[in-house]
Amino acid sequence: TISITHNFIAKIIQDDLAAGRVSSVVTRFPPEPNGYLHVGHAKSICLNFGVAEQFGGVCHLRFDDTNPEKENQEFIDAIKDDVQWLGFRWHGDVRYASDYFDQLHAWAVYLIEQGKAYVCDLSPDQAREYRGTLTEPGKNSPFRDRSVAENLDLFARMRAGEFDEGARVLRAKIDMASPNMNLRDPILYRIRKAHHHQTGDKWCIYPTYDFTHGQSDAIEGITHSVCTLEFEDHKPLYDWFIDNLPVPARPRQYEFGRLNLDYTVTSKRKLKFLVDEKVVAGWNDPRMPTISGMRRRGFTPRSVRNFCDMIGVSRSDGMVDVAMLEHALRDDLNKNAPRAMAVLRPLKVVIENLPEGHVEMLRADYHPELDLGARDMPFTRELFIDQDDFKEEYSKKFKKKFTPGNRIRLRHSYVIEATGYEKDADGNVVLVTAKLIEGTLGTDPADDIKPKGVVHWVSATECKEAELRLYERLFTHQTPDKTDGDFMEYVNRDSLKIITAFIEPALAEVAAESNFQFEREGYYVADRYDHAPAKPVFNLTIGLREDKSL
Ligand code: ATP
Ligand code: MG
Ligand code: MG
Repeated sequence: TISITHNFIAKIIQDDLAAGRVSSVVTRFPPEPNGYLHVGHAKSICLNFGVAEQFGGVCHLRFDDTNPEKENQEFIDAIKDDVQWLGFRWHGDVRYASDYFDQLHAWAVYLIEQGKAYVCDLSPDQAREYRGTLTEPGKNSPFRDRSVAENLDLFARMRAGEFDEGARVLRAKIDMASPNMNLRDPILYRIRKAHHHQTGDKWCIYPTYDFTHGQSDAIEGITHSVCTLEFEDHKPLYDWFIDNLPVPARPRQYEFGRLNLDYTVTSKRKLKFLVDEKVVAGWNDPRMPTISGMRRRGFTPRSVRNFCDMIGVSRSDGMVDVAMLEHALRDDLNKNAPRAMAVLRPLKVVIENLPEGHVEMLRADYHPELDLGARDMPFTRELFIDQDDFKEEYSKKFKKKFTPGNRIRLRHSYVIEATGYEKDADGNVVLVTAKLIEGTLGTDPADDIKPKGVVHWVSATECKEAELRLYERLFTHQTPDKTDGDFMEYVNRDSLKIITAFIEPALAEVAAESNFQFEREGYYVADRYDHAPAKPVFNLTIGLREDKSL
């Protein structure tokens, strides 16, 4: 289904189509494969794919792969997986900026021939000095007036591998006094003797992001090149290349505000640090704000897309309350997740008026409203309920609880009445005896003595054991990114607890990545990688209510 978004980018596109400035929309999502995508990228994906879908256009997936040292195939595969999981399909094959290295090289030669690019021998430190500051203009490089012939020769030798990394760069000749630092003779090519995941050892010079991005857009016929605000200052340079090169089309860049989320970090560099320092188990650890981490945590694609719709798109960077993400998640799971039962703190109940070995299969729907099928639940003489659901004495405070002489309904099952209990040496109740009230499956007791409440349960003899991974927030600070200290100081080192729970047998058999509401406990998902019928593993996605946050 196409979600119709009303944001300023959609408005621009609508106007361009109406005025005939473009005949159809082509957008692109251009990640650099130097890490896994995070929730901020989800916003960009939803926007780029979303507007293309909305206006009957197409969106490309293009890897912006101009820094071979930091990139690899694992990241490429993970990014493709994430985009597809979110429910989007790119147009045609996946593209790589490196597909255009030959063309970009030819355009670099073209600029040299036009007297608009030169080889510069300043060291990085010297170049920084010559560049000037925001308040002071820069100085021309002493190499700026090299002849076209000398530049062509030096650039050819850069390409042939004659010089060391950092010895020379190719720069555009624009304006060292420009108030926009990006126009002070920006670098087009640098020497990197690195193997590239797509082009192998073909190149030892690589184009910069700025020299690559707009021209790749032009080659692909991108009409609206949508990026985040930090590229606003690069737009004059983006346009300079388009104006000064014989490109086949004229793309335009538009900027929107990045997504920042509180209680987390959205920077690939910092997320990589968490992985490298083994604070988390990997990029797709369920605590990570990566798309694959959220997936493993139990987010659904719909919940992420709904969140992106909710936060909208604006012209300024904003801080979004993580409660909005939690709301989108809980709302989707509440509406759509099947319900099932797991007992986390077991207390044994023995129903004394049932024979030993009694097993009755009860059929229960997975959802109160939606048709999500049903499962069989074994009902037996020995059950587990939650320890908190039994009290030795009745009190107003515990009026919905099971107490001696009182009745409780077992969810999807019978009404039982407590007849007694046993305690251990420490005074903890360890066993409750009860009697089944006949004829109470789906109806009230005939004697009209109503149960006090409804509790979840599993058969003590037919249930399965499951590993539950209980996650908390990874950061203890609301803005771990924006504090003076090191963001690592705010890592919650105690953000994972593992417990064993008893689950209905049907839950052991579900497919990995199945979402559930464990009734009265929270939303859980069968772990994408570790869940198996012989060893069920469920991750806590989120608590049932707002006071139980991520
Ligand atoms: P990071 O700063 O985390 O390294 P990046 O911007 O360098 O991210 P890219 O792979 O270049 O990562 O991003 C691909 C696209 O996603 C870009 O168009 C970028 O603007 C967009 N994007 C990245 N982070 C966010 C964010 N927090 N909110 C919205 N869009 C984002
Ligand atoms: Mg980038
Ligand atoms: Mg980056």
